[in-house]
Amino acid sequence: MAVPEVLCITGTDTDAGKTLVTAALARAAMQAGRQVLVLKPVQTGCGHGDSYHHDGMGMRIAPPPPSDTVPDVATYRTAAPAASACAIVQLAPACSPHLAARQAGVDITVHDLTAQVRDHIARHKADLVLIEGAGGLLTPLNSNEVLADLFAELRFPLLLVVANRLGAVNHALLTIEACSARSARGCIPLAGFVTTETSPAAGPAEHAIRKDNASIIATLGRLPCLAAVPHISGLHGSENAREAAWNTAAAAVSPVLETMRRPPCHCTRKAAPDSTPERLLAYDREHLWHPYTSAQTPARTWEAVYTRSTRITLRDGRELVDGMSSWWCAIHGYNHPALLDALQEQSKRMPHVMFGGLTHKPAVELAQSLLDMVPQGLAHVFYADSGSVAVEVALKMALQYQMAAGRPQRNRILSLRGGYHGDTMGAMSVCDPENGMHHLFSGMLPRQIFAPRPECPYSYGQTTPYDPASFAPFSALLEQYGDSVAAVILEPVVQGAGGMWFYHPDYLQAVREACTRHGCLLIADEIATGFGRTGSLFACGHADITPDILCVGKGLTGGVMSLAATLTTAEVAHGISRDGGVLMHGPTYMGNPLACAVAQASLELLMRGNWVHDVARIESGLHTGLHPCTGHSGVRDVRVLGAIGVLEMETPVNTEALQRFFVRNGVWIRPFGRLIYVMPPYVASDEDISTLTRAMCGAVMEGAWR
Ligand SMILES: *Cc1c(COP(=O)(O)O)cnc(C)c1O
Repeated sequence: MAVPEVLCITGTDTDAGKTLVTAALARAAMQAGRQVLVLKPVQTGCGHGDSYHHDGMGMRIAPPPPSDTVPDVATYRTAAPAASACAIVQLAPACSPHLAARQAGVDITVHDLTAQVRDHIARHKADLVLIEGAGGLLTPLNSNEVLADLFAELRFPLLLVVANRLGAVNHALLTIEACSARSARGCIPLAGFVTTETSPAAGPAEHAIRKDNASIIATLGRLPCLAAVPHISGLHGSENAREAAWNTAAAAVSPVLETMRRPPCHCTRKAAPDSTPERLLAYDREHLWHPYTSAQTPARTWEAVYTRSTRITLRDGRELVDGMSSWWCAIHGYNHPALLDALQEQSKRMPHVMFGGLTHKPAVELAQSLLDMVPQGLAHVFYADSGSVAVEVALKMALQYQMAAGRPQRNRILSLRGGYHGDTMGAMSVCDPENGMHHLFSGMLPRQIFAPRPECPYSYGQTTPYDPASFAPFSALLEQYGDSVAAVILEPVVQGAGGMWFYHPDYLQAVREACTRHGCLLIADEIATGFGRTGSLFACGHADITPDILCVGKGLTGGVMSLAATLTTAEVAHGISRDGGVLMHGPTYMGNPLACAVAQASLELLMRGNWVHDVARIESGLHTGLHPCTGHSGVRDVRVLGAIGVLEMETPVNTEALQRFFVRNGVWIRPFGRLIYVMPPYVASDEDISTLTRAMCGAVMEGAWR
């Protein structure tokens, strides 16, 4: 059987003439010899004794009222006697569906209505189906859903009936806007609009206004005017007058039926016909670069389609327990409603505005929240769009500060081996010189000074005390190069992407003292460690120190948007600005309001304090869960700090094989180098943590990592 053409009809208002247009369309189609079904999903004001009738599907059923007491159905039958017509849910009170339903003690839901509409369409062998709404687009069906939700769910083209009178433009444009705003269920494909005239035009002036209404709606609403129905009189006159009136109406709306054969113009949600999972992955392999991959022999990728809390759902329906927080970011889990709400609210007001010369509440509020939570003494905030850029800005701050202080010879940075600070040029220059990318770009990178990795391990449950001798190499370097060092940069306590190495907070304290003594600044890169990950709100907190410059990023927005910040003290900020100096940086998307609003919501979640308990709980869960690997062959070290759990192997792991193993075992863990590690969202349950550690131990025991 051929698929019927279906058209939904809504109006700018209750009495816009929807029923007239629907009935006239039915008549025009009937006259053209077509089988027509007219559906009214919800009909209120049904003039019969029972307050509620439902024509099927096991709900409370009263005897069906005679069709001439169901107002719109009676009209359809008068205009198009050969058409089938029915009102699915009939309610006696003449008011909005949600209220009529409440009075009748029933529930109307988009879910049920959609099923019933589809059922009716399937049962009637019509080749044209017309579905008339009730009231306007935002007429409530219940306390959660409006008529637009039904249309969005049905996803048939929608015809808008505009009552052409004073206020028509405003009503029409609001309705058109509402169509695209109901995005929770996808956009409603608008086919076009039809104007109706509820009274004859009083004279040429009014006629001109009505003509202009139609054209300005078409222009501003970017929607075609498909037909203009003149004022129709005689609809309630003698039989002959009625027939003539309906013929006039049918002729007026008939262009709509022609247009329906063309695809609707306003849908943005049509899936490309060839977007099968295989084609998508093939295109990805051919044309997209993933982090640190070859274009010729790219590593395997999986298509993710949905995330929620600690879960990532793949295209084939598999749900994985997330162990990565998407590289330290999704600290509250995915799709946290507070973050999504903040994003949506801000997107309605102002997604972005330049930060040069303008400011806004999201940026200022976030700066206040940040300054309230970071180690005391920091007072100025610079927003960047990624962690690497925040590091570049930190390096520039340090260099500009030293220049402004009359110490231009202090133009080098001292960094720790095993560190990672980002992928841009300046950031690369301070990454670990061996496993970083120095050899690739050696001619271009500034030559920095490197201290050995701090050999003073630190982890949960550790008993070995700090060995002050571990600080000697750093101390010696600073003695040697101190006068040329602008700043020391390090990741406090936890070195992340450079090796997942944890070192003692006393070492950090010693660095702080040495920097102060030698007149160089301390830059703490907390892009990975910030916001509770290590069990302290900031890793600097383990040593109770304040850096001169602090970089944050990654978890700042809870994994929703890219945003980072570089914070500094009044001393450094005013030093740079002395004698008219300015900080020479300004990203285009600096202080992006969407990102700031989400970050603010994320910090508010943190300020509730649940992370303290959660991170401690995860820490002990990881410790217990990974303990069986200690001493196992191939395992060099097992360490846990805060919500970070690491298995360090003796030799590099087979990332590709391991990743497949983990996906097969229902977890998302991405190892690198000699490291198999997790840093799950703080909302991970004990069950999630044991699923993750079981998979990690399994990989080691079964040799899947080789
Ligand atoms: C990830 C990371 C960066 C770089 O951040 P991007 O947003 O990837 O540019 C810098 N420093 C540390 C410590 C990081 O973990």
